Amino acid sequence: KETEEKFEFQTEVSRLMKLIINSLYKTREIFLRELISNASDAIDKIRFLSLTDPNALKANSHLNITIWTDPVNKILTITDSGVGMTRQQLKENLGTIAKSGTSEFLNALEDKKADMNLIGQFGVGFYSVFLVADKVIVTTKHNDDDQYIWESQAINDFTIAKDPRGNTLGRGTQIKLHFKDDAVTFLEDDSIRNLILKYSEFINFPIWLWTKRTETISIDADEIDKKDSDNAKPDSDEPKIEDAPEDDEKSDVKTKTIEVPGWELMNTQKPIWTREPKNVTDIEYENFYMSFSKDSEVDFKAIVYIPSRAPDNLFQKVQDFARNIKLFVKRVFITDEFLDFVPKYLAFIKAIIDADDLPLNVSRETLQQHRALQLIKKRIIKKTLDLIADLKNDDVKYNKFLKEFGTSLKVGAIEDNENRKKIAHLLKFPSSYKGSNWTTIDDYISRMKKDQDKMYFVTGSSVEEVEKSPFIEGFVARGYEVLYMVEPIDEMLVQHMPGHGGKMFQNIAKGNIDIDKDDFEGKAQLKFKFAKLTEWMQTILVDQVEKIIISDRLVTSPCAVVASEWGWTGHMEKIMAAQPF
Ligand code: ADP
Ligand code: MG
Repeated sequence: KETEEKFEFQTEVSRLMKLIINSLYKTREIFLRELISNASDAIDKIRFLSLTDPNALKANSHLNITIWTDPVNKILTITDSGVGMTRQQLKENLGTIAKSGTSEFLNALEDKKADMNLIGQFGVGFYSVFLVADKVIVTTKHNDDDQYIWESQAINDFTIAKDPRGNTLGRGTQIKLHFKDDAVTFLEDDSIRNLILKYSEFINFPIWLWTKRTETISIDADEIDKKDSDNAKPDSDEPKIEDAPEDDEKSDVKTKTIEVPGWELMNTQKPIWTREPKNVTDIEYENFYMSFSKDSEVDFKAIVYIPSRAPDNLFQKVQDFARNIKLFVKRVFITDEFLDFVPKYLAFIKAIIDADDLPLNVSRETLQQHRALQLIKKRIIKKTLDLIADLKNDDVKYNKFLKEFGTSLKVGAIEDNENRKKIAHLLKFPSSYKGSNWTTIDDYISRMKKDQDKMYFVTGSSVEEVEKSPFIEGFVARGYEVLYMVEPIDEMLVQHMPGHGGKMFQNIAKGNIDIDKDDFEGKAQLKFKFAKLTEWMQTILVDQVEKIIISDRLVTSPCAVVASEWGWTGHMEKIMAAQPF
């Protein structure tokens, strides 16, 4: 190659490369994210240029990314029809000019303030290819120059030569990675597919992967062979996008399962939040509760998804990354390793956040503490509660939701001081009201009797149990509604949320409650009538109870043991006795 020239990597770049080559960093897969994001950036650039220059796309009208793996020869090829690089840019961008991020990243790595995952945020993502490859060949064609080949084995230098094959790319960049032996597993079909899905779902340009899929085709054997070889991957060079198989007309002979090689579109779904909301169908909304959000201080969009079923271990995983919150910056996946990004009680939601400006050249912990992310977090919580409130309009759906996540909401009412009021509107309880088997507190309040100033509730371990409880007799007989708090968490809930909507809760198994406030005469008569009995009981039960009183709580049961206003109810005693500590 007569035009080949050799260049030394700039000192810091060289240092960085050595670090990358010898890195024991376990998440080497990020190289693909960096390559895809560079390809996407390059296409963005040419698309932008084409807005003012009609000839910009002339050499190649496609705007896409293709990926092709060859496990036998241990090669991965990624091609984009982006802006490409001139010879000069190739030399500067990939080796001779160190960006300010290079030494910053080196320092951050040394001080353990950053790990390899952040390489892209320091503007040196390209070099991550050397995590998996020991030889890299970049072929590139820019509109203003001929096609050039950059090649490096990651030692101290690289070469640039004019491509003897001519300007075969039309326009764009092709990067060939020769994989290290210990990295070839990335090239397996499933593995590369999963990686692409993980890192490219929200890239705005189509990403095609050359794959073999099994298909049952009803044509005769001769034709199958022919079809197979027609679409086989060319030996000499990787396939072009036009090679994608067309739909064959099917004759009615036999069926046979064959492997059809072809281009498969990896990012089929355009991100919902980048589309016109009115063009998103109801079906698309069914699983995705959308939330567009614009904050004056942070610019981000997010989708919050509420799964229809709670995972078995909903309240168990505390330390593990739930991986339910995925953070993208400008549609490039950054991380899903957040610890408690949303409070525990919302651990069931899944969210995709796409932020525009985040200072990402910091560690995950620092990032999570960042003000912008804190604001995003607040908005996500608020939005999620709004979504749940919307769900409330559909009784059937909402009750189904509460079956799965009702307890979570109660945890929220206990722990989230800021949103307690909001959450209180969302809670439902069984009650003595016959119209429905579950009621919100607001509905309860709307049915309260004129003279009723407290919201009556009873605790127990099941609706069946509390329905038979002597405590509720007097209330129900007089037309007062009683809320049934039959979940273990409910006692704690009313401790943290003693009232709602201006009314206080009253546990009817506690204290001395006057139901018929006005019936002084009747009560005085009763008191007089049973004075002897109460006195006698008081003497024999002196060690068991505080006092014996005549009450209008009961209708058919002769007596009930109630707790004092500040004491534990029988139910609470049971719960406490069951605690292991
Ligand atoms: P960054 O993407 O943050 O600029 P990288 O190390 O990933 O840093 O890439 C360095 C530079 O190399 C890019 O800014 C770009 O100019 C050039 N480059 C990398 N990949 C491509 C590509 N596929 N097409 C065109 N230019 C590219
Ligand atoms: Mg990059």
